Amino acid sequence: MKSLEKIYREAGAYLEGHFLLSSGKHSQFYLQSAKVLEDPKIAGLLADELAKMIQLSDIKVDTVCSPALGGILAGYELARALGVRFIFTERVDKVMTLRRGFEVSEGENILICEDIITTGGSALEAARAVELQGANITAFAALANRGFCKRSGSDHNQKSECKLPENLPFFALDDFIFEIYDADNCPLCKDGSKAYKPGSRSN
Ligand code: ZN
Repeated sequence: MKSLEKIYREAGAYLEGHFLLSSGKHSQFYLQSAKVLEDPKIAGLLADELAKMIQLSDIKVDTVCSPALGGILAGYELARALGVRFIFTERVDKVMTLRRGFEVSEGENILICEDIITTGGSALEAARAVELQGANITAFAALANRGFCKRSGSDHNQKSECKLPENLPFFALDDFIFEIYDADNCPLCKDGSKAYKPGSRSN
């Protein structure tokens, strides 16, 4: 397989500019996974690679669960590659919830899948939502890791911003590590440009 960065760049999913992230911080780069996953063949290929890593471990997975909306495509493809069931959680009045008739049985082994893990906040909320129904969370996965959490097999250490539990494995295809800045200490702002929200223009 080509490098994940090459796949993102070729899909126009590795954006360069001056971005205002949902955390309020600024960055020169932004990953738009939906642009990679718009090609089902590439989505399938990436999910197959991720599934191989998971199958090589001893992790039990009965079901893949993703937080809506961002994680759904990656999670669905991963579930297909693993041959297991797929469900998703969504926010209702800001609370991550299991809806649409999805049910979880007591002790069901669930892997939580995102497109990209930054601090893992939404993934952790999805995990808590299915744990409330009796699920046993066995692992976390994402296509890419933004470098705050430690993915299995990577030399990079976990940073304090990471919210994923350290005792569970986190599988991702690669690390995408780039600087993010506080709004009042951003070199791009100092150069005179203005940060904008990804998706608010042509991206
Ligand atoms: Zn800035």
